[in-house]
Amino acid sequence: MSDALFDLEGKVAVLTGGGGVLVGAMAMALGRQGARVVIMDREPTAANEVLGRLRSEGIEADAIVADVLKRDSLEDAVSRILSNFGRCDILVNGAGGNKKEATTGPDLSFFDLPEQALRFVMDLNLLGSILPSQVFGRLMAKRKEGVIVNISSMNSFRPLTKIIGYSAAKAAINNFTQWLAVHMAQNYSPDIRVNAIAPGFFETTQNKFLLRDEKTGELTARGKQILDHTPMGRFGTPEDLIGTLIWLVSPAARFVTGIVVPVDGGFSAYSGV
Ligand code: NAD
Repeated sequence: MSDALFDLEGKVAVLTGGGGVLVGAMAMALGRQGARVVIMDREPTAANEVLGRLRSEGIEADAIVADVLKRDSLEDAVSRILSNFGRCDILVNGAGGNKKEATTGPDLSFFDLPEQALRFVMDLNLLGSILPSQVFGRLMAKRKEGVIVNISSMNSFRPLTKIIGYSAAKAAINNFTQWLAVHMAQNYSPDIRVNAIAPGFFETTQNKFLLRDEKTGELTARGKQILDHTPMGRFGTPEDLIGTLIWLVSPAARFVTGIVVPVDGGFSAYSGV
């Protein structure tokens, strides 16, 4: 197999939520594969920490503080990216997550979930991918090429208990991925591809409170249940996502658009029996 299939030399990759655990690892992987990398994150400390790691490996990179829910801030980021790098070839819509206040539990019933928390989760995960796709997708439409990768979740196929807003928003991301793939190919260029990755269960900051007891660090009942339903018998690590990401953004996937790839240790394939 030719190395050119996975070559990203000189490509410019922009990652929203790039200061995060999973997306930070994706940024490193894209850089190691030859891409120039732009970390976009609302949190300057998180963004700069990943930027430092990229630069320490000699990867050409920048970090921009931007909010995926504020169009002005995204437009400012585009101006800076165009003046520093001249273009955007790859967009990873990585900013996303759940919120404790939008999660049912012993002290919070479905009937009492605050509207504000539900809105926050829906907006961050859905609108927070649509707005950057508009702003960066316009650049791709002009150049008639580009790749967008959305980050969905296993709970988009079948909702998980407790996390109502997050499940609904990620299901909407799958639908949006298909919609945008068709729209871009039909209206702008067949060389603009849009796909998504649906990670299974990864032990990270945002879901720790559901998987492990805050005090003891032991698995919660839910954490145990998840491992029981994961044929591979473990949580994922950020590196588990890399092969799928590199494949989706590289020429190797040039006839692939509109799909959602589960990376979940077999969770979605297992009926539990
Ligand atoms: P994380 O919480 O470690 O990082 C998310 C990053 O997004 C943070 O650096 C945060 O500052 C940034 N961010 C939040 N709101 C933002 C905004 N409005 N504008 C710009 N940046 C913003 O998350 P992660 O674990 O790396 O997850 C990355 C993606 O993977 C998310 O979409 C998440 O929903 C999805 N996912 C995670 C898991 C998991 O197990 N962790 C599983 C499935 C899917």
